[in-house]
Amino acid sequence: MIYQHKGVMIRQTNYSESSRIITILTEDGTQVPLMARGFNKTKSPFIVLKQGLKEALFTYNRFKGMGTLNEVDVIQPFKRVNGDFIVYTYASYVMELITRALEEDMAQETFYRLMIKSLSLLEAESAPAAIVSFTAIKMLPYYGGQMNVDACAVCGTTDRSLFSHYSFSHHSVLCARCIDEETAHRAVPVSNRVLYLAGYMKHTPIDQVDSIRISKENAGLLLAFVEMIYDEYTGVYFKSRRLLKTL
Ligand SMILES: [Zn+2]
Repeated sequence: MIYQHKGVMIRQTNYSESSRIITILTEDGTQVPLMARGFNKTKSPFIVLKQGLKEALFTYNRFKGMGTLNEVDVIQPFKRVNGDFIVYTYASYVMELITRALEEDMAQETFYRLMIKSLSLLEAESAPAAIVSFTAIKMLPYYGGQMNVDACAVCGTTDRSLFSHYSFSHHSVLCARCIDEETAHRAVPVSNRVLYLAGYMKHTPIDQVDSIRISKENAGLLLAFVEMIYDEYTGVYFKSRRLLKTL
């Protein structure tokens, strides 16, 4: 049976001197393994897949198990993402955040939408650290993590202008009024603006985010906050996160 799906190549491995097995994540959130014959040849019919992250239309034959890739037509080339090493590293971080949480035989349509949205935002020159934060916040529940930035865990206030700390014993924000010797234990000061942005990204549906315009400095602080949450609750290691630290 012949299929045609929008998708993004998320993995590849050499099969023989000339062929490669690739895995695509399709628009309905399914992982499809495909044999790409001639992939490694100089005149490869799939040359577009060798040049970075792309959203493409994949045409393939498949009965059961592995399919055979016939054709690839690029839909979004993500030129800026693929052309700038630093932006590309942030994009790799986005890809890791999403693909590491994928499970076999489980369609995650949301993951695909989040991937395309995040790559498009990176392409549109928003602050890269802000986009990674957005992806990480949306993915957090799939790693069993939580981030409560809506109400102070002690007094319950929802007045965001009062939030001043994030507590790892209360698993929540605390407001400036409730910080004392006891609550300050395992609580870290986090700027009000960062907590606001984190809440905004958590609650705004993926499709409603058209641009993320925040300063580079706030984007960096936001990512540091989100990474602290990941360290506390997930313990997942991301290669591109480590790489970014060295750039
Ligand atoms: Zn309070």
